[in-house]
This record gives sequence, C-alpha cells and structure tokens, in this order.
Amino acid sequence: MDDAHLFSKRDYPELRDAVRRLCADFPATYWRTLDEERGYPTDFVGALSQAGFLAALIPQAYGGSGLPLRAAAVILEEINASGCVASPAHAQMYIMGTLLRHGSEAQKQRFLPGIASGDVRLQAFGVTEPDAGSDTTMLRTRAVRSGDNYIVNGQKLWTSRAMHSDLMLLLVRTTPIEHCARKTDGLSTLLIDLRTAKGAGLEIRPIRTLLNHHTTEIFIRDLEVPVDNLVGQEGEGFRYILDGMNAERILVAQECIGDGHWLVAKAAAYASERKVFGRPIGQNQGVQFPIARAYMELEAADLMARKAAHLFDHALPCAAEANMAKLLASEATWKGAEAAMQTYGGFGFAQEYDIERKWREARIYQTAPISTNLILSYLGQHVLGMPRSF
Ligand SMILES: Cc1cc2nc3c(=O)[nH]c(=O)nc-3n(C[C@H](O)[C@H](O)[C@H](O)COP(=O)(O)OP(=O)(O)OC[C@H]3O[C@@H](n4cnc5c(N)ncnc54)[C@H](O)[C@@H]3O)c2cc1C
Repeated sequence: MDDAHLFSKRDYPELRDAVRRLCADFPATYWRTLDEERGYPTDFVGALSQAGFLAALIPQAYGGSGLPLRAAAVILEEINASGCVASPAHAQMYIMGTLLRHGSEAQKQRFLPGIASGDVRLQAFGVTEPDAGSDTTMLRTRAVRSGDNYIVNGQKLWTSRAMHSDLMLLLVRTTPIEHCARKTDGLSTLLIDLRTAKGAGLEIRPIRTLLNHHTTEIFIRDLEVPVDNLVGQEGEGFRYILDGMNAERILVAQECIGDGHWLVAKAAAYASERKVFGRPIGQNQGVQFPIARAYMELEAADLMARKAAHLFDHALPCAAEANMAKLLASEATWKGAEAAMQTYGGFGFAQEYDIERKWREARIYQTAPISTNLILSYLGQHVLGMPRSF
C-alpha cells in the first residue's frame, strides 16, 4: 500500500483547488457580516451542496461521491484554511454516517438522495442535555412506544444548526436506566423531521454564544415520531453514536487545523509587514517564535489526523488516534490563535482584521464536540489501562 499521502502536504490537490475556488466567492466581508448579524451562511452552504462537497461521504448509489473520510477531512480543512467557516455545514458529513451504517435500506433510499443533492439538510444532532452534560448515558429525553409512534418528551441543549436543518438525529432513552443491565443500554436514535415537528411538540430557541455557531436549545413535549424513523435497533443508540464519533473527531480535527493554518499564515504575514522601532516586528524572535511553534504543533497534529483518517478508511481501529488528533489539533490551533492575537497587537481586536473572530471560533474545539478532559480520560482508561474515574 502506498502511504506517501500520509506525509504529502497536498494530498487530493484537485479537490483542494476546487474548494479554494468556491471559497474565493465568500470573502472575509461575507463572514464578518454574518458574525455581526448572527446569520447563517445559507448561500455558502448552498454552494457547497451544489458542488457536491457535502455529499462526499454518501455512496454513489445514493447520489453522493463515495469518497474516503480523508477526502472529506481535506474539504473541511481547505474551507477553514481559506478563511471560510465549515462548522455551519460540517455535521451533515458525520451525522449521515449513522443513517448510512445503521439505517434500513428503506430509510437510506428515503433520505440520502435528498441529502446528497442538498434539497434536504441533515445538520442537527441532539445529544447534549442540561443535566447530563458529558455523561451522555444520564440523558433524560424519553421516547415511549405508542402504536406506530414514539411519544417523545425532554430537552436538548447546545443543538447547533437546528434552525437551519430539515432533519435532526436525536438520542433518546427508550428503556429506563433502572431496567438496563448497563447504563449504555436502552438509548435509541430517532430521525426527527423538523419541518413537521416544529410547532407540533417541538420548540427551538437560539442560545446567544461567544461565537456564531447557530446553537439552540430544544424543548420537546409529547412529540409523535413514527417508529419508521428509528435508526437501527431500539436500545443500541449509544453504540451507534460512539461508532460515528471517530469520524466526527477526525473531521473536526482537520477543520480545526485549517483554522490554525489560516491564523498562522495571517500572523506570519503581519509580522513580516508591520514595522515598529524601524523594523518588522517579526524580526524579533519574541514575536517570531510563538508563530513558528504553533506552525510546528499544527503540523504534528496534522500527522496524527492523517494517521487516524488512514486507519478509519482501512476499517482499522482508530479511536485513540481520532481522539488524540482532535485534542492535539484543538491545542495547536489555539496556540495559533493566541500567537495571531498577540502579533496583531491592538489591531487583533479590531473586527475588520478578522483575528478576534477567528480567535473566538478557534476556542470551541477544546470544549466541543468533546472536551479535553474527556479525551484524556479515554486515553488514560482505555489506552493506558489506568483505573476508571467515572
Ligand atoms: C457552541 C457549541 C456547540 C455545540 N453543539 C452541539 C451539538 O450540535 N449537539 C450536541 O449534542 N451538543 C453540542 N454541544 C455540546 C458540547 O458537546 C458540550 O458542551 C461538551 O460535550 C461538554 O459538555 P458540557 O457543556 O455539559 O460540560 P460538562 O459535562 O458540564 O463539563 C464541564 C467541564 O468539566 C469537565 N469534566 C466533567 N466531568 C469530568 C470528569 N469526570 N473528569 C474530568 N473533567 C470532567 C469537562 O471536561 C468540562 O471541561 C455544543 C456546545 C457548544 C458550546
């Protein structure tokens, strides 16, 4: 097997160039305005869908291009490295995986072609709840079978993009935890059609956050969901979600690395141009070294992300690598964000330079979709065999 692409800076060069060309139509002013208005980049997401980028992972039989995960990761990286923002669209790539791996053939025929063409948006993933937090198995949203429907009651928190999505994958408890052998049993995944659910038992409220992430809280009261919308088997939902997490971690890591490279490139360029005390500030090693260090750490994170994607694409175990890639990428990118803020001095705070916006956006990766401590505890317990802490 030729593994040269593991080390090649520009694997998938045509794909990268195509993404860059599309992104050139969405300059910084577009994102700045959306940030100010807290708007959703409908045109950008539409253009990505039209070009087929969001259907990269959907098999050709359902209208997608059936590319490997590494190609999807490259798409997200290039979006962010060009100064655009992948997060309003990225979830479609990994949520769809649950449907693809565990959905029935009828469900795939029903939903995937519309998702591939961009006519139907599957951008929302409702897992987190106010009282459960990182302890997902403690979630309280309950689905009770009643004839051909489930009746769902509960609340979700931090469900991103729910107001800009047609479908939502919802994790619910179908068997009370006290009746389960393991706390990871008894959870199920339901596909919710938000177009019909809104106003019929489901209410979405935006949450104002540090960054424009289109995040919401969702209140569910006696919502009827057809049993046909159960993805996979009842009670297996937690395993399905875990199953999809490696892909999510790898994609988010690469997207984050895209941000890091954008920040480092900006910082290096500004440090070379800005003259103070009669010389470029980048001539001072106190300014130069943090930028160089961030670059080096991004490159190291990139190697781990490539390794994780390589393992994933060869159906090999990759949970440790996917988690490490996500953590290393989030920290390297944050170093890049800090270096850029410091290098720009006061101008880093001015909105027209975009540094403060990207700095805010770069901070999220250490918390979502999984926080740093939870990754470290996974490594400590499952990779290194140390005692469980929870
Ligand atoms: C902008 C944004 C978008 C999001 N989008 C989505 C989404 O689309 N869908 C969705 O389901 N969720 C989403 N989330 C939720 C996100 O996944 C959670 O915020 C994250 O997983 C952390 O959970 P929590 O906020 O409940 O923190 P908590 O679980 O309350 O944890 C708080 C802190 O304590 C630490 N901690 C907790 N327990 C331990 C322990 N045993 N040992 C060591 N440290 C511990 C955590 O690492 C964290 O730093 C989003 C969050 C944000 C902020």
